[in-house]
Amino acid sequence: MKLSYTALQTFQNCHFRYHLRYNCGLPSRPRPAAQSSRALHGALHLFHQGLKKPRSGDEALFPPAAVSLDTLLSHLKGYYDNLTRPLTESQYREGRALLARYWEVHRGHSPTPYLLEEKFQLHAGPFLLTGRFDRVDEIPDGFEILDYKLAHRSLLPPDPLQLDVYQLGFHALTGQVAKKLSFYYLKLGEKVTAEQEDLGAARARVQTLGREISREQEFRPHEGPWCATCDFQEFCPVKAKNPRPVLATGRARQLGFDFGEG
Ligand code: SF4
Repeated sequence: MKLSYTALQTFQNCHFRYHLRYNCGLPSRPRPAAQSSRALHGALHLFHQGLKKPRSGDEALFPPAAVSLDTLLSHLKGYYDNLTRPLTESQYREGRALLARYWEVHRGHSPTPYLLEEKFQLHAGPFLLTGRFDRVDEIPDGFEILDYKLAHRSLLPPDPLQLDVYQLGFHALTGQVAKKLSFYYLKLGEKVTAEQEDLGAARARVQTLGREISREQEFRPHEGPWCATCDFQEFCPVKAKNPRPVLATGRARQLGFDFGEG
């Protein structure tokens, strides 16, 4: 069975929410910010391809002149003009402002991307843990994994679990250990960095969590700050007076309980 970092984090916070989402198959509600997030990730991905070092014998994907603010904004415009998944006017305006700030912050000292939108997978107990890096840069003393965040909230240090998963994923993909993991907050134009290079400890923590998930039988609810973003409060015995009965996998969709993929 495949698991993502989000699934591990969900289990860590609340077993009941994990059970509803991943065992019963109840989908999450679509988030309005998801469209913006996809467009910004996509624009940054295309832009950084132009900064990637050509492999020996290859030409750069874009000539150096193409690495400009206009190029970066034109990638976002491509998403705005997309007829099947267009951005709203305000999402487009905000996206342009965020990318313009990103450009100003990095002007004159562009990163050297090593990996862009690269998938990884590794074994965690009985599960196959899968994920994707937004970006990994070459830095003077090694590699830095970067994760773009679109959250409004103030800067938070990277979740140690995410640090473990990314570090293990990077090692599974390249055989190397990253020096740093950074969250880049696009709305704030700032980065928070953590360091963790103990691969053995990271593997032990993630595998222990995988084993706990496979052994869990009760899936009790656990209240916390994460309840604020929980889509399943109407099923939750600690939140709803008369909780809705939990539907089995497939049955949920059959009965029309389907919010679409989040
Ligand atoms: S509302 Fe809170 S306690 Fe209830 S399922 Fe959701 S996350 Fe768990």
